Amino acid sequence: MQRITVAKGDGIGPEIMDATLSIILAAGAQIEVDEIEVGEKVYLSGNSSGIAKESWDVIRKNKVFLKAPITTPQGGGYKSLNVTTRKFLGLYANIRPCMTMHPYVKTKHPKMDIVIVRENEEDLYAGIEHQQTDEVVQCLKLISRPGCEKIVRYAFEYAKQYGRKKVTCFTKDNIMKQTDGLFHQVFDEIAAEYPHIENEHWIIDIGAAKMADTPEVFDVIVMPNLYGDVLSDVAAQIAGSVGLAGSANIGEECAMFEAIHGSAPRRAGQNMANPSGLLQGAIQMLTHIGQTEIAEKVQNAWLKTIESGIHTYDIYEDGKSKMKVGTKEFAEAVIKNLGQKPSQLPAVSYQKDVKLNLPKYQRKPAKKKDLVGVDFFVHWADTDPDRLAAIVKKIETADIQLNMITNRGIKVYPDGFSETFCTDHWRCRFKPLDRKSITKQTIIELLSAAEKNQIDIVKTENLYEFDNKPAYSLGQGQ
Ligand code: NAD
Repeated sequence: MQRITVAKGDGIGPEIMDATLSIILAAGAQIEVDEIEVGEKVYLSGNSSGIAKESWDVIRKNKVFLKAPITTPQGGGYKSLNVTTRKFLGLYANIRPCMTMHPYVKTKHPKMDIVIVRENEEDLYAGIEHQQTDEVVQCLKLISRPGCEKIVRYAFEYAKQYGRKKVTCFTKDNIMKQTDGLFHQVFDEIAAEYPHIENEHWIIDIGAAKMADTPEVFDVIVMPNLYGDVLSDVAAQIAGSVGLAGSANIGEECAMFEAIHGSAPRRAGQNMANPSGLLQGAIQMLTHIGQTEIAEKVQNAWLKTIESGIHTYDIYEDGKSKMKVGTKEFAEAVIKNLGQKPSQLPAVSYQKDVKLNLPKYQRKPAKKKDLVGVDFFVHWADTDPDRLAAIVKKIETADIQLNMITNRGIKVYPDGFSETFCTDHWRCRFKPLDRKSITKQTIIELLSAAEKNQIDIVKTENLYEFDNKPAYSLGQGQ
């Protein structure tokens, strides 16, 4: 028996949760439910995170959380409960299967069956943003080796345990050589440990176009957070409907399962909503807690129900569907089909034990790290890079000199183009003349000289070499 935490959420949440629980319990799920309240009521009671402290205790104790969609009230100040939960509980992997149910649910892609594995904690979602000048704001994109290793390993382990043939990686490492470059590098390293699973890498732009056009060439796709956020919705939608997809958020300790759609407040309380998305989340939960036979039984009964044309309003089609039903009636139909398999759609068959082998991250030995220069970001409301160069050159010393200036990453000094548009945010790179390393004291002296010369430095970024390899990007055009 597994204790799980359940939140019925807002809008259509309670109806689809009741339907989902009734199906999995009828199938024999060995679960005991602790219910907590999250969402709109909690937000409106003055708790800006949408969840009470005692509820966290329940989630952390049970470690398995089935969550219906919630409504985030309009207006500022309310933190997204989903994002908070993922981060607090370290739910680093977001797993979203997107499979078509052609011809029973309309799609342009009758053969699509992909699983998106999205990194869930880092990338631009660290939420580290700053305004630095009148004209420029920045968002820090953080990618870590443990983050990459954990998600890529998850993708390959998932592929192995679920009998998938190929893992594809999407990044933009032709542009972001450090961040996406690390993700791609780790992908190649881990792929080599799984010789029986095909692997490939696509640049995200053409990969996304290919996925939207010919999704049947993909199997498991792993990617950093932002790309995964966007493309998992695209994948769910082109498979048939975002209303049919569920997702699992997995961490080393805890896991959360949900539908991918929201609380659809306009449909609430009318017994209309489709519980399939949440049911798909619950099926992932059952495999996660080792109740794979029950998961298989529920999935096959659900497929049977869909192919027999019993549909809720959102997927109902005159002429194709047989019966338009409400939330409760749909659940009853699935329950009636428990023990049956679909005859047209492929029936699923899960391995008895789908435990993934996910070793804890082992920190690597530290590399040799040398400080080899510094980037100063300067707020300067003029447009001529040569004049800025003349000003910042005043702080040069015999040891360290201005190496280049970029504006939004494009080199504008020396030898810039007059056509390049410049904002008020300039990066001035200082490097020692003879390529020997510098000390932090050098940077302190440069900063102090800049202050005396009224140069408005809004940020400094140290330039390092790790094991004698430069670990920073060049200026575009450098
Ligand atoms: P939504 O997904 O709730 O609804 C969009 C439309 O899709 C609805 O109008 C409805 O017609 C349809 N729909 C969605 N789920 C359906 C279902 N199960 N059955 C039938 N039709 C369904 O998106 P929204 O309207 O943008 O957001 C509503 C609220 O949900 C917002 O407060 C938003 O913050 C929240 N939301 C929550 C989550 C979550 O908790 N995971 C995710 C997304 C949005």
